[in-house]
Formats: sequence, structure tokens, C-alpha cells
Amino acid sequence: MKILVISDIHANLTALESVLSDAGNSDAIWCLGDLVGYGPDGNECVSRIRELPNLLCVRGNHDLAICGDADLGVFNHEASEAILVSRRMMTPDTLQYLRSLPEKLVSDLVTLIHGSPRNPVWEYILDTGIAAENFSGFNTQLAFVGHSHLPLAFTVNPANGFVERSYRLAGVPLTITTRAILNPGSVGQPRDNDPRASYGVFDPESMTWEIHRVPYDIPSVQQRIINAGLPEKHARRLSAGW
Ligand code: ZN
Repeated sequence: MKILVISDIHANLTALESVLSDAGNSDAIWCLGDLVGYGPDGNECVSRIRELPNLLCVRGNHDLAICGDADLGVFNHEASEAILVSRRMMTPDTLQYLRSLPEKLVSDLVTLIHGSPRNPVWEYILDTGIAAENFSGFNTQLAFVGHSHLPLAFTVNPANGFVERSYRLAGVPLTITTRAILNPGSVGQPRDNDPRASYGVFDPESMTWEIHRVPYDIPSVQQRIINAGLPEKHARRLSAGW
């Protein structure tokens, strides 16, 4: 069984299409939010994602902010500028879809959220301390999160109960034997100095998790960002992945 896990698409349709074609067929698709914001193709990304078969999707902080449902004071200057420009670009249909997304989805095995189990939209899980506090915030074996734009895995060591953090390299599968918080990295704006689009594949039968990275046509997206009047910083950062 193959479940494609994507997050932080950030209105980058070129990266999204490259990921979907690289991933090929899957049994289900889980999207962990931030479909829009930063990039030029918000409406197109939402249209593409909402039509994917067997989709589960939660909303992220940018989805919330572009709908006008969050205080822009929590974003830095260029991020809030991008949100204001993006908001004007969104169709009513896109906004309605983003508003309809839940903050959290829970099944027998997994919890899906954008930020963290205890603070689904806003909290970043970057270190073992924050991860450890969050393991009591969900009841399933696994939680999948986005938000940091980093392909990190946090697992509980069964011998001592300590939480361990690993940065997941593409092509190195992780066999999950304990509770874990897993992040697929970002499709549309990676921040680990690797500009390639990032996604994860989860197999609940073999309990394996693997990150994949895929190159895409970055200059074409940068040009659309500039043309749309979005902050130039968000074009520049795509080349280096920060
Ligand atoms: Zn994001």
C-alpha cells in the first residue's frame, strides 16, 4: 500500500506537478496544509489538490491567513506581504475550499495536522523537546505534520523512552517500530538547503516511511512570482532552498 504524503505546497504548481508525476499512482494522498501563500499559483494548486482521489487534507497557517481568519501580526514582513497579495489573487471558490478544511484528521493509526498535535495550525516541531511534549497531544501511533518545511522524523526510543530526531535523506527508508511524528518536507518551498521538491511515501503494511526529492523548473516559478508582484525574496529563496 502506498500513501503519498505532501505538505507546504505554497502555491507552487510546477513543484506540485513534478511531485505528482514522480510519485505515480498511490492508494491515498494526505496533504498537511499550506496549499497557498508565497507562490504564484494558489488557485491552480487548490484545484489540482482538491480533485486528487482518496485525498485527506488539513489546513495550515497560510491557508487560514489568506482566508482572513488569522492575525497577520504573527507573520514576518515578507510573509504577510505575500499573504495580502495572494488574498487578492484567490477566487471565491478557492477561499471557500480553504475555509472548509479541518485542522486535524484522526484515524485508527494516524493523526494528520499542519503544525503540532497540541497546536494544530501554529506550532513548529523542530527539536526533541517540543516533540516530546507533543507525544501526549495525540493518541494514535503516528502523527504526520508539516509547517517546518524540513523532512524530520521524531521517534520514541523504546529502551529509554527518549525522543530521537533524524533528518531524513531521500532514498533511505525508515522502518517505524515505535510512536513517531513524521514530516514529509515541503513541496513548494523546501528550507533544508536542498531546493528539490520534497514528499514522503508511507506504507502502513510494511510500516515504512521514505522521503523523495524531485527537481523541477525553478526559474519558471521565480518568473511568475515576480510577475504576480509577490515579494522577490520568495523567488530568490527557491534556488537555494531556504
Ligand atoms: Zn508552510
